[in-house]
Amino acid sequence: MDGAFYDNLASQPTADDVAAGALTIDLGALRQNYLVLKAHLPQTNIAAVVKADAYGLGMAQVAPSLFDAGCRDFFVAQLGEALALRWLLPKTARIFALNGLQPGTELSCASAEIIPVLNSLDQAKRWSTVAQELGAKLPAALQFDTGMARLGLSESETEQLIGNPSLLDDVDVLFLLSHLASADEPENGQNSYQVRAVQNLALRFPGLGVCLANSAGIFLDLGHKDIMARPGLALYGGAPITDSPNPMRPVVRLDVGVIQTRDVPAGTRVGYGGSYVTGKSTSIATIAAGYADGLPHQLSNRGAVFFDDTRLPIVGRVSMDTITIDVSALPPGTLQPGSMVEIIGPHQTLEDVAANAGTISYEILTRLGRRYRRHYC
Ligand SMILES: *Cc1c(COP(=O)(O)O)cnc(C)c1O
Repeated sequence: MDGAFYDNLASQPTADDVAAGALTIDLGALRQNYLVLKAHLPQTNIAAVVKADAYGLGMAQVAPSLFDAGCRDFFVAQLGEALALRWLLPKTARIFALNGLQPGTELSCASAEIIPVLNSLDQAKRWSTVAQELGAKLPAALQFDTGMARLGLSESETEQLIGNPSLLDDVDVLFLLSHLASADEPENGQNSYQVRAVQNLALRFPGLGVCLANSAGIFLDLGHKDIMARPGLALYGGAPITDSPNPMRPVVRLDVGVIQTRDVPAGTRVGYGGSYVTGKSTSIATIAAGYADGLPHQLSNRGAVFFDDTRLPIVGRVSMDTITIDVSALPPGTLQPGSMVEIIGPHQTLEDVAANAGTISYEILTRLGRRYRRHYC
């Protein structure tokens, strides 16, 4: 009794029950997208990148759904993500950690049967050492830096390894891996440069296949053959190639509820700093999402939402929990408290929102907030 607010826990309302925003994630479209990528590269094993909670869409729902669609290879960035994923998938799934091996995590990685992407000779040596201790060869992928200066063996490390291949005696190298820096720009010369670099590497490590393409890489005609591709964004409906028609089905829809509407005269300041001043009498609606819900502050006075086919511009600054929109284009009274407006959906793509915010679709996706009711269909 004492301290218990609710007598009947079963009837306790949840935050989801009362959420003012609805994030719909279409797992059917996700699986379709997986099959579209597979059909595009029928000779290639298509893995799935589910790092950062499956780009914000929920790894716990996304990864098993992709497994059902036939995916058996999954990439995350960090070992912690890999350990969480291990519980979500059948044993037959292979899980790769792109960031490789942080010092001190080698045994955890091995005991959970996570496959590290080895990014340096130091990582390779530490993985070998654990393998020797465990008395068994351990699997790994081997990443080479071919043009990002980010992760992977440098040219000099590559030469050292070729000169001393016994460094990998205790490692079962499954394939070679590298990452394209400019794959979303098909005309960028860096693509063919990196492909040549990878082809040369493949000659130096006979018998090992290559895993190069991300989402955009799958749609480039690179003139090489991956044994595995590792898309993320395209699975989630993002456009793989900048400024090209998007062959993927949308996976995400975001609608947010109206809290309040008001009619204000010309000369009214709207929002923090009065950054917008009405030029005529204007109907303003305040909706229940802001930058804390992943809608960037940069959308202030730039972005828009939709009600049916009507574009409703964002006026004033995006607040933490609310956004003000000009709804004067709608017949008076159309929007009521509780009416839903579209932020991402058939009228406005992820890419549109990203462009208005001056960022990339990846950032919009991965920052989608935790206060929306999430509906998986
Ligand atoms: C995130 C990531 C991917 C997936 O890239 P998309 O552009 O989302 O398809 C593939 N490889 C590496 C190394 C990554 O970091």
